[in-house]
Amino acid sequence: MSLSYPTVAVIGGGASGIAAALTAAQVPGRRILLLERQQRIGRKLLATGNGRCNLSNWNAVPGAYFGSDAAFAAPALEAFPPLEVHRFFSHLGLLTVTEEGGRIYPLSDSSNSVLDVLRFALDRAGVDVRCPFPVENIRRSDAGFSLESSSETLRADAVVLACGGAAGAKLGGSTDGYRLAAQLGHRRTALHPSLTRIRTSPEYPRALKGIRVQANLCLKRQGEILASAKGEVQFTETGVSGPAGFDLSRAAAFGGDGLTLHLRLLPYEEAGVCDLIRAKIAAYPTLEASELFTGMLHNRLGRVVVKAAGIPASLPLASLSEDQIIAAVSRCCDFCLPVLGVDGFDAAQVTAGGLQTGDFSPETLESRLVPGFFACGEVLDIDGPCGGYNLQWAWASGMLAGRLDS
Ligand SMILES: Cc1cc2nc3c(=O)[nH]c(=O)nc-3n(C[C@H](O)[C@H](O)[C@H](O)COP(=O)(O)OP(=O)(O)OC[C@H]3O[C@@H](n4cnc5c(N)ncnc54)[C@H](O)[C@@H]3O)c2cc1C
Repeated sequence: MSLSYPTVAVIGGGASGIAAALTAAQVPGRRILLLERQQRIGRKLLATGNGRCNLSNWNAVPGAYFGSDAAFAAPALEAFPPLEVHRFFSHLGLLTVTEEGGRIYPLSDSSNSVLDVLRFALDRAGVDVRCPFPVENIRRSDAGFSLESSSETLRADAVVLACGGAAGAKLGGSTDGYRLAAQLGHRRTALHPSLTRIRTSPEYPRALKGIRVQANLCLKRQGEILASAKGEVQFTETGVSGPAGFDLSRAAAFGGDGLTLHLRLLPYEEAGVCDLIRAKIAAYPTLEASELFTGMLHNRLGRVVVKAAGIPASLPLASLSEDQIIAAVSRCCDFCLPVLGVDGFDAAQVTAGGLQTGDFSPETLESRLVPGFFACGEVLDIDGPCGGYNLQWAWASGMLAGRLDS
């Protein structure tokens, strides 16, 4: 029997491309070219998880993902669930730890370890890594595919497109993948930055800059809840970031105008917060109102909540009216920030939107339009929440595409 696809070109040396190349290389005698536009492979991988690489998440089930047809991701995630990805890395010699929320990191706490074991594996598998090799054009003929850079043209029997998305431009994010796929007749959906800072009305952010808080968040339009999250929020000069803020950024990017972000700043119902405040007033009647939340919230945040409730900062606590107490409690339990938008692709961790998944088979990730053309990772219209989900998708889809099944 002749070898299917004797020469395979993988375009993009990021997480999904490396996974695809290693999988494709398991067939003896096959030649694998891994073509990377930048000076070295895996640049974005090194920056992930603040340099720690949150490489997967034990909770990364298909239902956790987004996209115009999120169910498209299921076959890849079921074939290569977090356990398989964990086994894959264990086999490469990577030790890992699990942190809060099922997040998987290298035990070394360094993304270098992840890239190193992958580089060694590519070397051992005989993958021909070419970088820099920016693929500028792709053509299909009876003789297979031709891939052109400005100086060289390579031929391949099958191509795996693993160019990633537009997010993180300084780390290699680009729109090349969509452009190359379009040369073969593929279309894409609208693109939005996701897992990025939400920009809010400039009224408070400066005063709150740098403060971290554990909060329950929701994003609303005219009272209707569009999305919610729970966890750490970090206030920045222009709005909010942190994992819980990031998780709402997708809905904020898609949501358009008229959105508001609501934060429950203490893990209690209004009645519980009210009891705490009344106890504070009884214990410290002469204290100024600006100190109402001292000991409960970060000092600066507490003062901003008092201000947002319209209470004069120097008013003695004993002088607070019932309405003022109710206003303070309600601002603490529903601290509302009007949303102006989200930061752009440069600052985003992932692209929401991408190549139309209807043009690919979910079982193989082969194009329905061009036989022998496969796609994986962020370039497809699939994305996940913060916490290792996007790399899990990159590994799983890369491994499935790398099987080169028809
Ligand atoms: C700062 C940051 C932190 C992140 N942290 C995490 C995290 O901790 N956990 C997590 O799960 N996800 C994280 N992500 C998201 C995750 O990194 C991506 O979703 C994932 O890397 C996508 O993998 P990919 O292979 O599809 O694309 P990429 O990793 O982007 O790889 C695509 C590669 O293709 C190359 N390329 C593009 N065009 C061409 C061309 N024309 N020719 C040749 N090569 C080309 C690019 O240079 C790039 O190397 C983070 C993202 C960023 C930006």
